[in-house]
Amino acid sequence: MTIVYTIGDSLYLNITNNCPNACEFCIRSAGCAFPYTQESLWLTREPTLDEISEALFAHNLSRYEEVVFCGFGEPLERFDDVCEICRQIRLVSDVVIRINTNGLSDLINQRPTAAKLEGLVDVVSISLNAANAWDYCRLCNPVFGDRSYDAVLQFARDCIGVVPTVVLTVLDLIGEEQIAVCEEIARGMGANFRVRTYIGGGES
Ligand code: SF4
Repeated sequence: MTIVYTIGDSLYLNITNNCPNACEFCIRSAGCAFPYTQESLWLTREPTLDEISEALFAHNLSRYEEVVFCGFGEPLERFDDVCEICRQIRLVSDVVIRINTNGLSDLINQRPTAAKLEGLVDVVSISLNAANAWDYCRLCNPVFGDRSYDAVLQFARDCIGVVPTVVLTVLDLIGEEQIAVCEEIARGMGANFRVRTYIGGGES
């Protein structure tokens, strides 16, 4: 069971396989090998908080530039555990902490959540994925349906001023027109914008 994996100078935490989306481009449900690590990040079961902590702190954090919550699932499915791991990291290290998320935390947790990330997280990277709710639903098949796209935007807005760096991302496969609209949305709310190259994989 792979809880921790590394890519370059980044240490990644794979803490859940749960996710309210079933994105057309996501390979997690097939349990395929993750392109960067060539191993499956499919978890045989959800690791406990202690297991995540033990796996993380077995590594010397001073050797890494960042710790990233990102795996074969949506990390904020375990919002309280993510916050607790961040607190534990902050006790011993000022390493950059990034969360890669689908931005659906408020719907998952049934409460506004962004404010709780203050002082714990340095970067939140939110998958916007589409320029409108219709295309989002078509691409991501969210269990929360039509409400999802607005919830992603609201979560992103709530993160501004709470988390130092907020990035909205799209994959390059959605086409230039949609990408341009997404960039306008991101810049309009004061977020950064990044176009990710699609290489396969289940990261949010
Ligand atoms: S790409 Fe991310 S948001 Fe989409 S189904 Fe996979 S883990 Fe969930």
